[in-house]
Amino acid sequence: MAKVRCMKCKKQVEVKDPQNVVMKNGMKAISGVCPNCSTKVFKIVGKNK
Ligand SMILES: [Zn+2]
Repeated sequence: MAKVRCMKCKKQVEVKDPQNVVMKNGMKAISGVCPNCSTKVFKIVGKNK
């Protein structure tokens, strides 16, 4: 599971429904939902080489 910092809770949360996404600039990221407040959270994983 992926841990992401939720902006709203201001702490690390376990992502609900994590999805791997690749941004236009080639950066890999995980997007999902905070289990506490249902805010969308986003984490950059690294560059797509
Ligand atoms: Zn939250």
